Amino acid sequence: MARSIEPKCKQCRREGEKLFLKGEKCFSDKCAIERRNYPPGQHGQKKGRLSDYGGQLREKQKVRRIYGILEKQFRNIYKQADSSKGVTGDTLLKLLESRLDNVAYHMGFGSSRTEARQVVRHNSILVNGKRVNIPSYIIKPGDVVEVSNKAKSQLRIKSSVESASNRNVLSWIEVDTKGMKGVFKEAPDRSELPATINESLVVELYSK
Ligand code: SF4
Repeated sequence: MARSIEPKCKQCRREGEKLFLKGEKCFSDKCAIERRNYPPGQHGQKKGRLSDYGGQLREKQKVRRIYGILEKQFRNIYKQADSSKGVTGDTLLKLLESRLDNVAYHMGFGSSRTEARQVVRHNSILVNGKRVNIPSYIIKPGDVVEVSNKAKSQLRIKSSVESASNRNVLSWIEVDTKGMKGVFKEAPDRSELPATINESLVVELYSK
């Protein structure tokens, strides 16, 4: 499966904010943004004003990086959002949040979206009792997502479930930490997602 090979902390530094791409490290003082919050490269510390187009492009890159999606696939998700009823930006975020890799991450089955994607790819996740190994699979309201019995003893899954249980509880997901199982109640409302994302800039960029 194609994926970005750019180092994760560099991606955050490029966007100038924490994108939480590396699991536990992101919550520690080893986070690169805590240490050097300026873009990578020899001109990284020079300040320049972004054009409107530049701002839209940066925002699109940021959202893509948060969810770990390559350009072509991201554009296809946008097209799907654009052809659906409702506000395109909201629908885009709902589609991204409903992906199996993202839901598995929020349930704590991987310490980052990248790790959750690997867990899915390695046949360790069941949806409504059936094995699903497609990270982009769209989870529907009421679907039950769980770690397969065989994978429940894996240390990395156990430790990420434990760490995630100490973080904020999300209203749209119900998790049984002991059973390594959760219910996706519904796609989140815009108000429940990070205010640092400006999806309208992404819509402006792609509507040109
Ligand atoms: Fe980003 Fe996490 Fe690296 Fe910090 S530790 S820069 S949040 S990937």
